[in-house]
Amino acid sequence: MKTILIAGGCGFIGSNLCIRLLNDNNKVICVDNLYSSKIENIKTCMDNENFTFINHNIIEPLYIDKGIDEIYHLACPASPQIYQKDPIYTLKTNFVGTMNLLELARIKSSKIVLASTSEIYGEPQVSPQPETYRGNVNTIGIRSCYDEGKRIAETLFMDYHKQYNVQTRIVRIFNTYGPNMDKYDGRVVTNFISQILNNESITLYGDGSQTRSFQYIDDLLDGIIKLIDSEYIYPINIGNPNEITVKQLASILIEITGSNSKFIYKPLPLDDPTNRNPEIQLAKKILNWEPQVELKTGLIKTIQYLQNC
Ligand code: UDP
Repeated sequence: MKTILIAGGCGFIGSNLCIRLLNDNNKVICVDNLYSSKIENIKTCMDNENFTFINHNIIEPLYIDKGIDEIYHLACPASPQIYQKDPIYTLKTNFVGTMNLLELARIKSSKIVLASTSEIYGEPQVSPQPETYRGNVNTIGIRSCYDEGKRIAETLFMDYHKQYNVQTRIVRIFNTYGPNMDKYDGRVVTNFISQILNNESITLYGDGSQTRSFQYIDDLLDGIIKLIDSEYIYPINIGNPNEITVKQLASILIEITGSNSKFIYKPLPLDDPTNRNPEIQLAKKILNWEPQVELKTGLIKTIQYLQNC
């Protein structure tokens, strides 16, 4: 039985990970300050004797009085609308917060994995994006606090490995969806499903031709767990290479639900990437991982979740 600390454990990915790792018979310490997450997400874990919740902001140093085998660093607002509300806070979380968790990993000799992001590729000039692509990121735009924050977090991870031999792992997560997403986080999957469920028009930003590649949460969890169990220290993409336009996503959701919702067009936010598509050859080779869940199957489960919350 391992003791695993999940920073950001009440968020969408974190809460699904808490549930999964408890089911796999681990002790889970969930750390979260509920800035962009909900305690309800972990309500099914609360009665489990192997689960502890600590309300803590990782910007402050974290002291834990027991051994920790693994740390998952998922603590950061991830929806553009939310991370842009207080960009300095987003930056601090990624720099100071990341250092605090790396210090904890150093003291405890724990393995530690960083939830990095496809955002580090910025507005990509190559498609699909391999891990070797260094990205095309605006340093002073509205998304920079998140994009550059995650880039410095990756740098901190590598330098803690090189300087202190901390057992670091870096996963670059592409757009992910599934149960426990916040209905009002402003992201495309939740916006479209909520609009359809409320018989409202579907808001396409720009002309809806920008692409994303959506992976279901269970596939992501398989990938991150395989990564922390591996010896691989360099960044690795975990995403579903099924690239579609945002307009196609809306059409698929209309088809699944039989909705009568129409499209309305809104301005494209600044620096909104035109495309995202993970190159996953490395994950296939190193982790023997590839996504299993079909888009429609995952979307149906997500709709069922959002209908009931
Ligand atoms: N988007 C949209 N309508 C919405 C919400 C988002 O057309 O109601 C678009 C957004 O402009 C972006 C894509 O969907 O191109 C994905 O947005 P999201 O905020 O989910 O994540 P991102 O990948 O941009 O971080």
